[in-house]
Amino acid sequence: MSDECVFCKIIRGDFGTEFVAESERAVAFRDIAPAAPVHVLVVPREHIEALHQLEDASLGGELLALARQVALDAGLDDSGFRVITNNGSSAGQTVFHLHFHVIGGRTLSSSLA
Ligand code: AMP
Repeated sequence: MSDECVFCKIIRGDFGTEFVAESERAVAFRDIAPAAPVHVLVVPREHIEALHQLEDASLGGELLALARQVALDAGLDDSGFRVITNNGSSAGQTVFHLHFHVIGGRTLSSSLA
């Protein structure tokens, strides 16, 4: 846990953020500035800065499984969805606590960059 990290504060319950899904080592909550009708962040409870610092493959699997669950719960399995992580500021990362964006509910651009 980091005292300064906004996602650690959310995980601690400081803001009363609703978790749309959770597992032993991860939580999922809605993005505050959604880029699509469904935009949920899947976040490890442990403070890990970014994907390049994730060494625990089982935690990686748990995060991906929770992202899948979020997408299924939102009914996105047929309509399509995207799971993205930004690693580092040059890739667009603004919150330095690892998270996967689960985005869907509209047609998504075919561009990845
Ligand atoms: P990234 O730019 O990939 O680091 O994504 C960070 C995401 O966190 C952005 O989409 C923000 O809108 C989102 N965000 C920042 N603060 C909060 C918050 N308090 N609650 C929910 N989402 C947040």
